[in-house]
Amino acid sequence: MELAIPVVIIFTFFIGSFVMISLHLGQMSARRALPSRDAYLQQSASLACSKCGSSEQREFGLDDQHDQKRIVACAACNKELFQFRREDGTA
Ligand SMILES: [Zn+2]
Repeated sequence: MELAIPVVIIFTFFIGSFVMISLHLGQMSARRALPSRDAYLQQSASLACSKCGSSEQREFGLDDQHDQKRIVACAACNKELFQFRREDGTA
C-alpha cells in the first residue's frame, strides 16, 4: 500500500511533536516551581549549587532571553537552582 508511508511519516511527526511539547511543558512547570532566591538562600544557607557545591552559575529568562523572570542554574552540573524577577528592566 503506497499510502502507508506518508501516513507513517505524518503519524511519527505528530507523535514527535506531542512528545516535544510535553517535555517542554514539563520543564516549564518545573522551572515555575523553583524557589525564589530568598527561599533558596534560606533553605541552603548559601547560593552554591545544592547538587555539586559549585558557586558558578548561569542565568537565563524563563520564556526567552529577555524574560524578566530569570532562572539561575549551576554552570557546572546544569541543575536549575532558583528563580528571581528582574525588576530594573535593563539589558
Ligand atoms: Zn551543580
